[in-house]
Amino acid sequence: MDDKNEEKKDGYESICVMCHRPESVCGTLLRMPPNICLCKDCLQKSFDLMSMTMRPGGPAPVQNESKEDTEQKEGADGAQNDGNPFFNLRFIIPGQMQNQTKLKPKKKETGNGTDPSDIMDIKSLPSPHEIKARLDEYVIGQDHAKKVISVAVYNHYKRVKRQDEEAFKDEVTIEKSNMLMIGPTGCGKTYLVQTLARLLNVPLAITDATSLTEAGYIGDDVESVLSKLLANADNDVERAEQGIVFIDEIDKIAKKKNTTSRDVSGESVQQGLLKLLEGSEVEVPVGASSKNGMVPTTTVNTRNILFICGGAFPGLDEIVKNRLTKSFTMGFNSNLKTKYDEDPDLLAKTNMEDLREYGMIPEFIGRLPMIFALRGLDKEAMKRILTEPKNAIIKQYQKLFAMDEVKLCFTDEALGLIAEKALAKETGARALRSVLEEFMLDIMYEIPKDKNIGKVIITADYINGTGGPIIEMRTANVPLIAPPISNAQG
Ligand code: ADP
Repeated sequence: MDDKNEEKKDGYESICVMCHRPESVCGTLLRMPPNICLCKDCLQKSFDLMSMTMRPGGPAPVQNESKEDTEQKEGADGAQNDGNPFFNLRFIIPGQMQNQTKLKPKKKETGNGTDPSDIMDIKSLPSPHEIKARLDEYVIGQDHAKKVISVAVYNHYKRVKRQDEEAFKDEVTIEKSNMLMIGPTGCGKTYLVQTLARLLNVPLAITDATSLTEAGYIGDDVESVLSKLLANADNDVERAEQGIVFIDEIDKIAKKKNTTSRDVSGESVQQGLLKLLEGSEVEVPVGASSKNGMVPTTTVNTRNILFICGGAFPGLDEIVKNRLTKSFTMGFNSNLKTKYDEDPDLLAKTNMEDLREYGMIPEFIGRLPMIFALRGLDKEAMKRILTEPKNAIIKQYQKLFAMDEVKLCFTDEALGLIAEKALAKETGARALRSVLEEFMLDIMYEIPKDKNIGKVIITADYINGTGGPIIEMRTANVPLIAPPISNAQG
């Protein structure tokens, strides 16, 4: 303190011996005899350097871990210091002591708000039927797809687990079971993968193949899919390396036909994805969609990342049909040509040859050994989607009404009509919510006006616009037919 006052008197300010910044810039300096002043940043840097060089693994810090994360991890279990006396040493200016707050241990993620009891532990390897049973609670229909996906995921994580065990190191290497899902829009491709990742509590990255381009061109590099995965795994490389990547709209990167220019968003993207699908060490930009000198990168091994590609493949059904009917084009069997016209499972008969004809390169399809199709949803499936899944849309509305102590019901006919209206929009189950919103808006506006209302029944008449919902009062249990609400007519 005396030194400081003396300095001020002679008009000179002390500077840090290392960074040469004056005290007014870098804060209170630590004074050591003989006349050595050091700022807290430089002192901390020296400690960090010491603790890193004395770490048994060498000076390399753990990649991609923020300073806070490192402190948190290492501080939480002091056992990791390996006897290094400088490990985790921090310099604290006495005046700042009271500001030092202990970092809270990170809250364990349960995956998008899923009930923790729903989550399966991949380490204990749930068997395919257990995985499918869980998927059944959320995804309606698509039994074949759920079965294929459950087996593939089981095998995948079994392979990952075995790889780590010494006893299995010399055994036959089991190849990855990347998947290709073919199915019309809104039939549940993305939803299936999302549900799977949530239940298994593994990081998931969903990306759109249309945004990908060959490196160096406008658009995202193929490595950007791994950047997303890494971000969703809180930059934990080890966790990301066991995650799932879903590439949607994969049909949009089919080889462009009759083009003389370079196919930077088609064939080249397929080529670029090859190394990712196969399993290799990839330099991944952290927090950006393409690599450049300014973006930090990290290495991610894709050996244990499960890649699932999905697409609607419009026009593929014609290719499959043509192949199947090739042998019937002449002679008295020619009437069989129409045999596949109405076949709802036509896409399930897709093979590699058809996909090649569609524009997928053989090397790419070869790396997606599981190819399966999802069916378009029919009226019955749409009705079930409205009511059956664990978080069905109608259950969500019922919960909202229950908060006001009002019971909400739908007649079976009303559900059928809602399903029909959604089907007419040709966007699959995605249309259900918008159709339902249209009818629920007025009800949700009107019902809270009268606190005596105890029950609302949505009828077919209301959906058709020829009547109103049935309303039951709380006190006298007399049903009332509400007048049609003009705006609610679909
Ligand atoms: P896409 O096949 O185009 O990827 P999505 O999986 O995104 O379609 O489906 C859109 C929405 O429709 C989902 O968020 C989900 O709520 C609902 N949905 C679609 N298919 C099903 C299904 N089989 N079971 C339950 N919900 C479904």
